[in-house]
Amino acid sequence: DGGKRPDYLAGLNPEQTEAVETLEGPVLVLAGAGTGKTRVLTTRIAHILNTGRAFPSQILAVTFTNKAAREMKERIALLVGGAVEGMPWLGTFHSIGVKLLRRHGELVGLRSDFTILDTDDVVRLIKQIIQAEGLDDKRWPAKQFAGMIDTWKNKGLGPADIPEGDARAFANGRGRDLYFAYQARLTTLNACDFGDLLMHPIAIFRKNPDLLKEYHGRFRYILVDEYQDTNTAQYMWLRLLAQRPKGEPQNVCCVGDDDQSIYGWRGAEVDNILRFEKDFPGAKVIKLERNYRSTEHILGAAAHLIAHNEGRLGKTLFTDRSDPDDVKVQVHASWDSEEEARAIGEEIEQLQRGKHLLNDMAILVRASFQMREFEDRFVTLGLNYRVIGGPRFYERLEIRDAMAYFRLVAQASDDLAFERIVNTPKRGLGDTTVRALHDYARARDIPMLAAAADIIETDELKPKARKALFDVIQSFRRWQELLENTPHTELAEQILEESGYTDMWKNDKSAEAPGRLENLKELIRSMESFESMRGFLEHVSLVMDAETNENLDAVSIMTLHSAKGLEFDTVFLPGWEEGLFPHQRSLDESGRAGLEEERRLAYVGITRAKHRCHIWFVSNRRIHGLWQSTLPSRFLDELPETHVEVAEMEQSYGGYGRGGYGQSRFDKAEPFANSYSTPGWKRAQANKTDATRDNWGTRSGHAVERIGYGESGPKGRTIEGE
Ligand code: ATP
Ligand code: MG
Repeated sequence: DGGKRPDYLAGLNPEQTEAVETLEGPVLVLAGAGTGKTRVLTTRIAHILNTGRAFPSQILAVTFTNKAAREMKERIALLVGGAVEGMPWLGTFHSIGVKLLRRHGELVGLRSDFTILDTDDVVRLIKQIIQAEGLDDKRWPAKQFAGMIDTWKNKGLGPADIPEGDARAFANGRGRDLYFAYQARLTTLNACDFGDLLMHPIAIFRKNPDLLKEYHGRFRYILVDEYQDTNTAQYMWLRLLAQRPKGEPQNVCCVGDDDQSIYGWRGAEVDNILRFEKDFPGAKVIKLERNYRSTEHILGAAAHLIAHNEGRLGKTLFTDRSDPDDVKVQVHASWDSEEEARAIGEEIEQLQRGKHLLNDMAILVRASFQMREFEDRFVTLGLNYRVIGGPRFYERLEIRDAMAYFRLVAQASDDLAFERIVNTPKRGLGDTTVRALHDYARARDIPMLAAAADIIETDELKPKARKALFDVIQSFRRWQELLENTPHTELAEQILEESGYTDMWKNDKSAEAPGRLENLKELIRSMESFESMRGFLEHVSLVMDAETNENLDAVSIMTLHSAKGLEFDTVFLPGWEEGLFPHQRSLDESGRAGLEEERRLAYVGITRAKHRCHIWFVSNRRIHGLWQSTLPSRFLDELPETHVEVAEMEQSYGGYGRGGYGQSRFDKAEPFANSYSTPGWKRAQANKTDATRDNWGTRSGHAVERIGYGESGPKGRTIEGE
């Protein structure tokens, strides 16, 4: 090297520099949030390129999302002065897998133009296979089996590898045969599923040592970000590619943080971190302890919280970034989620008046149904927002379906709505029927629903379809009659029940189904603040029309899971209540694992913030369609007094007699009424004291004091349905 040190190395601290410059041999960077792990990876690539150690095509770099890959590419280009002509092997495990398969798919029987099936395709295919085997697909749901296959593939298990017990678990021991049949069918179709994007390359490399050797020669440097969330299959893939003959260095650099492992539910194995030193002998383990992202308060709050987890490697984190103007992490209480959205909206507007960019603010939710309230509020306020990592609330499949029902009830000539739901849920009204209806309607220039009413009087349709259509028409007639005089939320619920739509998701065994049901409940709830069904439908079309221009200054809304690796000046964390966060599912589980993963998620959330972190909890939330008086999250209790402050309640709890809500809904709120003038947080707490103590068992003394328990609470309450 000799000459002047390149600029990109100048700003790094000694440990970071070591991680960038140790190019030979395995390196594991194990460090907390915001310590510059991603920056180290980026700089390392720049350094490899800049010193001429490898061409861009000789570097294999894995990121967790496609977005992260794009950003990394841009940064590298900046660091080396824009001379990078592409980095073909920089991407997610899946995108790299696709690339390998396009080249070598023939080795597992795929042509290079193979298709990648999405979840729906997969389920449809499995259902065919289950039926073809003469099995009852009601008893043995395709979705469930799709989930099992996915789990096996995450573990790197092909049909021949699945353990006896697992193979017996489905269809009276025929799980293994079905899995074989499924893979065979995929090959016939020249298709693969997501798991195959990892499994096939593994199989190819194992069976073709010469080819593997070729790739060993090609990939001089291998780098992996967010290493704590790799699953077993990814780990196997990585080890294969990193193999080298004895004496040759394995130039693998993985960076991760065990405290940010949040995809255990999807098969990620945090133990991969612990295995690294064993599997890559001579590995240099580098710790970064200085955080460059967050203020001392934010970091202090996060560190104290995560210290409540037992299964962790443990690490120190410090920051030099303390400024007398730094604000503590703020905890706010609101009456309900509408109030919460209103308060956060106001906070954002205030920051905006202080010349802060919306681009620098994010709302991170635990469950995607929480987004709806914010989207609605922001549309009302005219605040730009974007939803990251998923569709906006009203664009989701189940919401669109439900809306199609409502639209058709309100407007019988809405043919698009009709076509969408006529056979959803399945009623045996397939393409043939729809085409017949279409032709009939077009020939007479009438809406399809009207055409349906006519056509059942003829013998154009088969008796079964005619009967099914008759039922649909009857239902819509009934709902249309109810439209004027039934409260619209009630009607909406009735429509979803009677149409079988809710049941469709209740019977669905897929991982997404519970979330979809939550969203449907949220949809009904969102109607409450409107006078009528029509008013609501109008509102939604406005929301749908809201701009989502990439270049717009806009608040980001996303789940905590998709916020990994990102940073924002101001972060809002709403919904810190027991049952929502930590999520009920983790509380129902036996053992600590689920709860600890929730806590890591909370840690990820707080550590996204650079300057300001606002945490919210509400006293009442509608969960699973029921108003519940909620308990503040145990995680609030685990925040340290020194870095956290309970915000003054600027908001009044204006919720009581507010239009649109019936008084009865708030029966449970009675005890609050007496203390209407006490600050919100305390009032909320006072009400909960007994119950929370009972439920939580042990807790640290100082946290209890800080939060202001001990106020004499009326009666203890617990979450309904517990
Ligand atoms: P996470 O665990 O959240 O993924 P990380 O460890 O990957 O965090 P980075 O995102 O790489 O951390 O860095 C956090 C922030 O600190 C970034 O804004 C980055 O530019 C900045 N940073 C990192 N190292 C330095 C440094 N040596 N000097 C100045 N800023 C730095
Ligand atoms: Mg990172």
